[in-house]
Amino acid sequence: MSLTVRPGILDIAAYVPGDHSLPGEGPVHRMASNEGALGPSPKAVEAYRTLSENLHRYPDGGSNALRSALGREFNIEPSQIVCGTGSDDVLQLLVRAYAGPGDEVLYSRHGFLVYPIAAKAVGATPVAAPETDLRADVAALLKAVTPKTRICFIANPNNPTGSYLTRAELKRLRAGLPDNVLLAIDAAYAEYVDLPDYESGLDMVRNSDNVVMARTFSKIFGLAALRLGWVYCPPAVADVLNRIRGPFNVPAPAQAAGAAALADHAHIAKAKAHNDRWLPWFAQRMRALGLHPYPSVANFVLVKFPSDPKLNAEAALKFLNSRRVLPRRVAAYGLPDCLRITIAEESAVKACADALEVFVKGAATQ
Ligand code: PMP
Repeated sequence: MSLTVRPGILDIAAYVPGDHSLPGEGPVHRMASNEGALGPSPKAVEAYRTLSENLHRYPDGGSNALRSALGREFNIEPSQIVCGTGSDDVLQLLVRAYAGPGDEVLYSRHGFLVYPIAAKAVGATPVAAPETDLRADVAALLKAVTPKTRICFIANPNNPTGSYLTRAELKRLRAGLPDNVLLAIDAAYAEYVDLPDYESGLDMVRNSDNVVMARTFSKIFGLAALRLGWVYCPPAVADVLNRIRGPFNVPAPAQAAGAAALADHAHIAKAKAHNDRWLPWFAQRMRALGLHPYPSVANFVLVKFPSDPKLNAEAALKFLNSRRVLPRRVAAYGLPDCLRITIAEESAVKACADALEVFVKGAATQ
């Protein structure tokens, strides 16, 4: 007799993370994983180091100090926060809690790949609603709802497109969903957005019993290595997640570094200012080369390349790699014509733009 894998699991194409390294010598400009361009706050690094004295101790299983810090920072109730090993962890907990075989998990066509993976892992069916111009479409999402829909995921802003839904659109989505469908807003890149019509989901969670908002320390806080995320939920949802999460699901150094990072407002402001400067600069360089950068409010740009084999995304990727620049291919998102490029540190952003200029001009003279 052989082992039996639960239905759905063998349908999963395992998530392939962005590359970290290239063959050959020399440093690499890493622009494939949307990590914070400035790295972590020195105060977070210090808090992490301090914890190294106590590696034999279990962490606080309730992440209490971190949840209190988050509660103060966002003016929300700490008992309604559940922390996890990256926001990946909390997204998967949500799916395990609210969907199963025969259920549907709705997301937008170019939404974050973890949503369909998490759905299949519990035997549920992922349902992708079409988008308009690589932007989530509320009407299409609502049209895709069936009596089997249990969760609707929306990344806001979305990875890999960089687009966002306005507060009014999010509200329209919530209002149109049946009450027994959980709206899960994944606001991993929220700190990069300060547009007046943007809503991370905080207010929507506060005023409802079927909306949650997930956040991460992997992006602007620069703590991706520590795997730290959290979700703000209605009390009943927090209770459910606390029953199924790992009892010590957040390492102590991550809790300590996260709380310190949260308090370092100056560092966060510096990282935001960096993105505000280099995101439009990079997009403009791409437009000047005749490439198509999709409008982005996050810390990355999705760039569309022409179909000409001399100029396509695959050729661009090869050329960039030869210049030791590492963007993200996004064919797994159904976007084989595009590369997703993180607004990393200044030298990387400039190296990438300069390399693409040589690539485009070189192809024109071939
Ligand atoms: N949501 C979105 C939209 C993301 O882009 C990412 C990271 N790529 C995550 C969640 C997961 O982040 P983490 O698990 O590092 O918190």
